[in-house]
Amino acid sequence: MTLRLGVIGTGAIGREHIHRITNTLSGAEIVAVTDIHAEQAHAVVEQEKIHAKVYPDAHKLIGSSEVDAVIVTSWGPTHEEYVLACIAAGKPVFCEKPLATTAEGCMRIVEAELAYGKPLVQVGFMRRYDQGYRALKKVIDTGRIGEPLMVHCAHRNPSVPSSYTGDMAIVDTFIHEIDVLRWLLDDDYVSVQVVSPRKTKYAHEHLQDPLIVLLETAKGIRIDGEIFVNCQYGYDIQCQIVGESGTANLPEPSSVLLRSEAKLSTEILVDWKQRFIESYDIELQDWINSTLKGEVNGPSTWDGYAAAVTADACLQAKNTGQIVPVSMPKRPAFYTKNN
Ligand code: NAP
Repeated sequence: MTLRLGVIGTGAIGREHIHRITNTLSGAEIVAVTDIHAEQAHAVVEQEKIHAKVYPDAHKLIGSSEVDAVIVTSWGPTHEEYVLACIAAGKPVFCEKPLATTAEGCMRIVEAELAYGKPLVQVGFMRRYDQGYRALKKVIDTGRIGEPLMVHCAHRNPSVPSSYTGDMAIVDTFIHEIDVLRWLLDDDYVSVQVVSPRKTKYAHEHLQDPLIVLLETAKGIRIDGEIFVNCQYGYDIQCQIVGESGTANLPEPSSVLLRSEAKLSTEILVDWKQRFIESYDIELQDWINSTLKGEVNGPSTWDGYAAAVTADACLQAKNTGQIVPVSMPKRPAFYTKNN
């Protein structure tokens, strides 16, 4: 069987997902697209040479009997409405982060899914599909470095446009660390503090850059996470787990070791799309395969909710300079599965 997919939002990542589903992945085809800019949706259909119908709006696409499952890649503030509509229609949905822009919005999706009685939603936290993070998780889970005690990590971008706001450092950038560290450590956060080092001269006037996020987990693990979005030199994701009997580092992306001009060097990527390109492929192939089996195996609605609760606490900590508790209700048994 081929899964007939509808895509809501044909911007940057929507186009990338349409391209990879059409050209790289198997088991699914794009049969429907929609975007608030209809001409953009038509252009994608033409460019990708796909036989997809352009729908006038997202609700018509979700309700179409020709669409088996939906991918939501529109602007973040629209996600909650479309995911709720997919649940109401009983359709599996892959939603790019954020699941909703607030923890309350994510909770509304949790409640709708619980009422439906079967998981339908996967959230686009693709780092869980990165081979490096998976290798790191294996080291932790097999106990090779003992129990994790501390984590040092960094999320560095070469630069950001002036439209990038201080809150985006948390909700757009650090949100990936929030999810992947929770998954790596199999733990929940209990508190957060955000501190501001000396500001780089390369940041726009309104932006405090870099930031350091200090998280504490329920098991007592301490995490220091650097967010530095004008680091100039590249897109660089670092993560080191310090355990009781050793340390484990996220592997560097593979690159030729160059001996040239009296230097020994490797390349540092500059584009986030390149850094995680394979994980997007693996993530979506896994979602297609699971959906065809009637399952959801990837990051769940609960994971989207946990990330939103933590991001809200991070924002409060950033704005107040205080240590802020991260309060999560008990995870319903419905969501115990965690890939
Ligand atoms: P984008 O280029 O702005 O694309 C979003 C598209 O959806 C735009 O064409 C937008 O139109 C359109 N849109 C807005 N409201 C809509 C509506 N009501 N119905 C249908 N289409 C609508 O953004 P993007 O970079 O692709 O990001 C899209 C989402 O994916 C964001 O939530 C982002 O956080 C997420 N994302 C995730 C990753 C990841 O690593 N997992 C990476 C990139 C993006 P306008 O331009 O007029 O708003």
